[in-house]
Amino acid sequence: MAVNVEIKSFPLFINGEWSPSKGGQLFDVMNPATGDVIAKVTSGTAEDVDLAVKAASEAFDKDDWRDMPPKKRSKMLYAIAQKILENAEELVSLEALSSGGTVRRLGSNDIIQMVDLFQTLGKFVLDYTYSETLPSPPFPGPAHNFIWREPIGVCAAITPWNMPMLIATWKIAPALAMGNTIVIKPASYTPLTTLRLAEIISEVVPKGVINVVTGSGKDVGEPLATHPQVDKIAFTGSTDVGRHIMSLASSTVKNTTLELGGKSPSIILEDADLSLALPGSLFGVFLHSGQLCESGTRLFVPDQLYDQVIDGLKELSEKLVLGNPIDPATDMGPVVSATQKESILSYIEKGKQEGARLICGGYEVNVKGCEKGHFIAPTIFADVTNEMTIAREEIFGPVLSVIRYSDVDDAIRMANDTIYGLAAGVWTRDVNKAYQVVRKLRAGVVWINDWHMLRNDAPFGGYKQSGIGREMGKHCLDAYTQVKHVHTSMVPEVERRSWYSLLFSNQSK
Ligand code: NAP
Ligand code: MG
Repeated sequence: MAVNVEIKSFPLFINGEWSPSKGGQLFDVMNPATGDVIAKVTSGTAEDVDLAVKAASEAFDKDDWRDMPPKKRSKMLYAIAQKILENAEELVSLEALSSGGTVRRLGSNDIIQMVDLFQTLGKFVLDYTYSETLPSPPFPGPAHNFIWREPIGVCAAITPWNMPMLIATWKIAPALAMGNTIVIKPASYTPLTTLRLAEIISEVVPKGVINVVTGSGKDVGEPLATHPQVDKIAFTGSTDVGRHIMSLASSTVKNTTLELGGKSPSIILEDADLSLALPGSLFGVFLHSGQLCESGTRLFVPDQLYDQVIDGLKELSEKLVLGNPIDPATDMGPVVSATQKESILSYIEKGKQEGARLICGGYEVNVKGCEKGHFIAPTIFADVTNEMTIAREEIFGPVLSVIRYSDVDDAIRMANDTIYGLAAGVWTRDVNKAYQVVRKLRAGVVWINDWHMLRNDAPFGGYKQSGIGREMGKHCLDAYTQVKHVHTSMVPEVERRSWYSLLFSNQSK
């Protein structure tokens, strides 16, 4: 795959066109593999947010958009999918250069998932239950009642840097499928693909339906979360910022969905097939250098298998190839930034200080040709207890904590002993045992003998402090609608409206 990107400056994308900021400066977007500046992007301001929200609000008020017939909307979603396919190579390159994701993963997974989500929702909108008629009640009098599902209005999306274009799609696709309009604030490390995606999508949808305001959380995210004309906020990011967004959104009582952090447990049972469980556990934690919210970062291993599992994990981890993400031979790219690298290294230090045993990795790697990149070797700690910092806090890097157990109930108790509840997994040859464990695990997705397997027609989201609401699946369409109950009285004579006696005591019968 050719990867040539000229360094250019990106204005904001508002009302279907590139718009310079009202006062904001430019900031650099870097390639985390090389440290090179790859683009300049605008630091938006509250005034820019206001313009984008107004454009989205005007676009929402147009009946052609809001009340588009499902068949037409379905065609539109398929047309967007087609546009993404046509621009796939460029999107994958931009994403690899700015996020550090490997072209192998982006080209064969993320871009396909994006296309498929628009197509899946293109199917769903055809038979979605937009209205439901209720049976007419005989008492207190006949009536016709129905429930309408309507779009919410202007949605604001605030997205993280780990899978920027896929996570933006998880919000854009259902918002547009249900007739909303959207303003997106991408993460400052990785705004490029969201900007380009908006430009591509705007070739298919009316002006103002999709807008992007880049800039910091404080200058752009906060004004979005408090803007009175924003009806819904859909946030993906850390639990700390999620809590803050929720409190900001409360000032105008916004509909709020949150996809937050995780510290997902993976339990190997005694009868597990280790030829699956070992590579599967590493796939679960080291994909995208551990920067995936659903990563399986705590691995629970029974006494009997402990040494064998540790040896096997070490051997497989040491074979992983770190390199430039644009090289298809690279297994693991860099982490997203110097700050993220320092944070991961300080967690590794903490693990050592608190008594965990470092099995492999634990250091920064100097990759030839990428000397200024932010690479960390796949790191495994044994003898971790569930109380240690590395087992409690989300590290968001390539660090696995292996925790020993003697009794399965105890493993389940420790697995659930976390503020998070995004994902979990169990490895066993016995499906009945698996279901018993799955039933007790408090997480929004549980894998049996696998990891990371998300589907566009199945919901994804967190229990506990991993979030509120679900993305993908039919559930995501519900999340971008609100319901209206409409009552039509079928009792034309006032005398027969017995319920009016609740107010009028002398009403003649
Ligand atoms: P983050 O620091 O929480 O940032 C997420 C987004 O919020 C970014 O666009 C950020 O902008 C913005 N933001 C920061 N401070 C803000 C504020 N005060 N007001 C409004 N917006 C603000 O998360 P991250 O570091 O980008 O991503 C890593 C986190 O995302 C991890 O915790 C991970 O688990 C979580 N995540 C969850 C899922 C999921 O589906 N559950 C998926 C992916 C990632 P700037 O970039 O400008 O700071
Ligand atoms: Mg951050």
